[in-house]
Amino acid sequence: MATYYCPAHADALGLKAGIDTSDLLGTTYQREKHAKHTSTSGSSSEGVRTVFDSNSTAYYAECIRATITHGFVELTGQRKNILFVPSTGSALGVKLNWGVEASKPDTIVVVKTSQASAIHAFLDNSSNYSTSRCAQRGCALW
Ligand SMILES: [Zn+2]
Repeated sequence: MATYYCPAHADALGLKAGIDTSDLLGTTYQREKHAKHTSTSGSSSEGVRTVFDSNSTAYYAECIRATITHGFVELTGQRKNILFVPSTGSALGVKLNWGVEASKPDTIVVVKTSQASAIHAFLDNSSNYSTSRCAQRGCALW
């Protein structure tokens, strides 16, 4: 069961403070995640893979920074993810099921936010969050 906070309340509660984005592609793990989520290569052997339209490392890093600045927070157990919907319904890439395009995701998901050496991003569909509300005041999340 996840708990959500809208951008304003996440900021007010300090939930987005202290996330280290100084070197988003600094580790092999992060570079592998970037490569995976900017290429369809090998996706036919994976149940789900989301792929950004651009494979630019600068664009990917900017997506992570924009998500932390503008996004809403998802808390699940010890995990803190941050999600950003720049424009509902505007595709940022593709979601593949066993290599076959299944949907056009419009949401950036930043995960491993407490580990500077592992923080990375992938895509999801905002429809998965459209009925969720902020735990603080019931606000819409975007
Ligand atoms: Zn709120």
